[in-house]
Amino acid sequence: MEVLKKGPGWSLKKKCSCGSLLKVEKSDLFHTHSHHYDGSHEVYTTFKCPVCGELNDIKDHISFPIPDSYQEWKEKNGPGTED
Ligand SMILES: [Zn+2]
Repeated sequence: MEVLKKGPGWSLKKKCSCGSLLKVEKSDLFHTHSHHYDGSHEVYTTFKCPVCGELNDIKDHISFPIPDSYQEWKEKNGPGTED
């Protein structure tokens, strides 16, 4: 397959609770997991605000693979994204 013209990249505009308006791209997203006492388990799609450092969950359905944890995402993004 040859790409003749690349379409606009995937991104979302999201507002963090600190008031920052952010352009969230594929590489910003990772999964977070919530385990409950009854054994059930929920998976969220999450990004980290670069301004305040808060983890924000998004409700949008995504159709591409992302790192399965914050830890994995940090490793993928290399040093410099540490807290
Ligand atoms: Zn923020």
